[in-house]
Amino acid sequence: MRCPRTNIELTKLMVGGIEVFSSANGGVFFDNRQIFNFSDPSLKRALVLAEHLAALPDTDVDLTARINCPKCPSIVMMRRFFTPLHVVEIDECPSCAGIWLDPKELNKIHDNHLTAKEKQLLVNQQANNHGFIHFEIPTNRFSQRGIKKNHNKNTESLVEIALASFLD
Ligand SMILES: [Zn+2]
Repeated sequence: MRCPRTNIELTKLMVGGIEVFSSANGGVFFDNRQIFNFSDPSLKRALVLAEHLAALPDTDVDLTARINCPKCPSIVMMRRFFTPLHVVEIDECPSCAGIWLDPKELNKIHDNHLTAKEKQLLVNQQANNHGFIHFEIPTNRFSQRGIKKNHNKNTESLVEIALASFLD
């Protein structure tokens, strides 16, 4: 399979026992639904893969151009949102359900990953506050200490995004 952006042969990697196909420019192809093994940043293999891809040199290619599936070369991939906050757009093959991520998109998915409880909280806040949303996620939900005092960029951008989607 070839990289749909650079046309260079993809490299097969085994990450935590799961096969993925990385591009030399930091893009990655996940076969049918394998992305869900890598979308949650609390999983070690997810972080290992994101770190590996982020270290690859980015190339100057047009990331807005529509691409064909590396596995099904005749099929044009569909753009769709992956995250609940509609922040990260990914390419999905309507034929094989494979997913293509451009460089740094896995990092974006991790940055915007919400737990089920956080998703519910966001839905409730949107329903109750009529656009005035106060939604805070601890920066480091794995540390007991960081939970209350963190008011950081991540939280602010989530609020901005939530507000922006309200204004649409
Ligand atoms: Zn495909």
